[in-house]
Amino acid sequence: MKKYAALLLAGMMALSLAACGSSTTSSSSAPAEEKKEEAAVETGEQTEATQTEAPEPGAEQAETAGTEAAAETAAPAEVTTVSPGELHMATNAAFPPYEMTDDAGGYEGIDVEIATLIAEKLGLTLVVDDMEFGSVITSVQSGKEDIAMAGLTVNEERKQNVDFTDSYATGVQVVIVPEDSDIAVVDDLSNDKMIGCQDGTTGYFYCSDTPENGGYGEDHVISYPNGAMAIEALKAGKVDAVVIDNEPAKQFVAVNEGLKILETEYVIENYAIGVNKENPALRDAINNILVELINDGTVQQILDKYINTNE
Ligand code: GLN
Repeated sequence: MKKYAALLLAGMMALSLAACGSSTTSSSSAPAEEKKEEAAVETGEQTEATQTEAPEPGAEQAETAGTEAAAETAAPAEVTTVSPGELHMATNAAFPPYEMTDDAGGYEGIDVEIATLIAEKLGLTLVVDDMEFGSVITSVQSGKEDIAMAGLTVNEERKQNVDFTDSYATGVQVVIVPEDSDIAVVDDLSNDKMIGCQDGTTGYFYCSDTPENGGYGEDHVISYPNGAMAIEALKAGKVDAVVIDNEPAKQFVAVNEGLKILETEYVIENYAIGVNKENPALRDAINNILVELINDGTVQQILDKYINTNE
């Protein structure tokens, strides 16, 4: 656990600090990796030349691999997935900007882009499997899906069911209220208010907990299958507030008039990828890739692409 916490911190820190963390780690794989990277830089031209001089018969038939991708996936980590050649991502594609459907009926969003890169680097094809949020973790736990990636918050209870990778983003639970609401700060929720949440989410768990534990009690929370339905209930006056992650909240408020987000931050959380506990090789391989994607700025670029344009 401590190691995860340290990795997680390193992941969320600036490039220089994260790089420093990896060079001081006592993990046996790090020096080898560094060496590999150095070697790749020094002998980059040679490596490419070797590859082009001795192409494998099947190499040209590979549909997905461009020259760059081929170079990156030249030595994919050996991992086992539920379906050979594929990386199955369990998600709930109603959580913009992390995962949503696009106009063509495909999937897009921060998680989808990061997962696509992870799959590529593993030499696999990403398959997005859309399902109810409540099934995302159980499908990985039961071995039907490889990864749970759904703006998924790391918490102790979920750690009993899946292993988490390092964190790649943070989320903040926020409170959405009608513009004319008498709820001005989070504490006002305790004044006998009704709160709408998405079923099975951390927002639901916090709010439905007992007042002694900082919640408002089950009787004060109504859960909906997704965030959009909770927002509809708010607009119809069935609930007084909706507690949900900040980025989806911004999107809901942007497309629904008369709503606002309270300025107070409710809870700050870490998003990570859930992996089957019996597949530590996959978790480790993803962690190695995540470190790379965080350190080279790719994750930040993807976050900026979706988050800045929505503000
Ligand atoms: N971050 C929240 C959770 O993990 C909500 C995720 C979601 O609704 N996709 O519970």
